[in-house]
Amino acid sequence: MKPEISIVVPLYNEELVIGEMAARLTEVMDRSGLAYEIVMVNDGSRDRTAELARAICAADPRYKLVGFSRNFGHQFAITAGMDRSRGDAVVVIDADLQDPPEVIPEMVAKWREGYQVVYGLREKREGESWFKLFTAKMFYRLLKRLTSVEIPVDTGDFRLIDRRVLNEFNAMRERARFVRGMVSWIGFRQCAVTYVRHQRFAGETKYPFNKMLKFAIDGLLAFSQVPLRLASGLGLAASAVSFFFMIYGVVVHYVAPQTVIPGWSSTFSAILFLGGIQLICLGVLGEYIGRIYEEIKNRPLYIVAEEVNFDQ
Ligand code: UDP
Ligand code: MG
Repeated sequence: MKPEISIVVPLYNEELVIGEMAARLTEVMDRSGLAYEIVMVNDGSRDRTAELARAICAADPRYKLVGFSRNFGHQFAITAGMDRSRGDAVVVIDADLQDPPEVIPEMVAKWREGYQVVYGLREKREGESWFKLFTAKMFYRLLKRLTSVEIPVDTGDFRLIDRRVLNEFNAMRERARFVRGMVSWIGFRQCAVTYVRHQRFAGETKYPFNKMLKFAIDGLLAFSQVPLRLASGLGLAASAVSFFFMIYGVVVHYVAPQTVIPGWSSTFSAILFLGGIQLICLGVLGEYIGRIYEEIKNRPLYIVAEEVNFDQ
């Protein structure tokens, strides 16, 4: 039977969580009375996640598993799950139960009212470091200022997406995968359901600082060209400063000629300053060019090593 709802769960080293996750999802979804399927995506875990996922699939055919050949990253895992979902709507949810499955029926209710995207808005985040809370807050606000796409503040990838929107999303094969931004870009009627983001059920975050930073930079560069314009802005500002220095030099030459030759330190700092700005601008250019190169190779977004329960 074709499911009404597909639930996509990305998994990376979640052996401590996967059992409880499946139990909670099954309970909530059975109570909702909806026909559903759960698409688990194993993103190259190095622990027992794959083994446990296979056992869950063997016990319940509504559970499906896609396994990657290596770790491709959260956003690619979500993409693979969405590619393989067959439901009229798909819900993306984290495996660690930070996004409570109990919110899914609320999302479905909104969907029935006619919204095509229902995203989870984090009203509160429990049990996360002040550093993560602070950087996340700054990131979402910066992103909002730098892009023209309406990406709602404080939302993650926990959301329901209607088939109409999903088909558009699945046709977007760019490598710069900032899923929440892409879904916002597609448009249609979108609304929020607020929820409290709980502590991780068990295990550690799979987003350490370096991954978080990369994710933030990827998101910004994929959705904004402001950094490029910033480079020209910096160049203009530097030229203006040097112009004033030129005038200053000419004036000093006539007013106090003896100080001109010892002025080598200001010359030196101006050279360093300009050199620095040029390197920064080159770096920004390089970031975009590197991304063009990645896109143009046109490789598959992920490599699938195994599929379980997809053949019925
Ligand atoms: N995840 C993944 N691949 C990765 C990193 C994370 O599939 O390379 C999954 C992870 O298993 C979890 C979700 O993405 O289901 C969110 O990760 P996590 O909870 O560690 O992030 P946080 O909530 O701390 O931001
Ligand atoms: Mg988490």
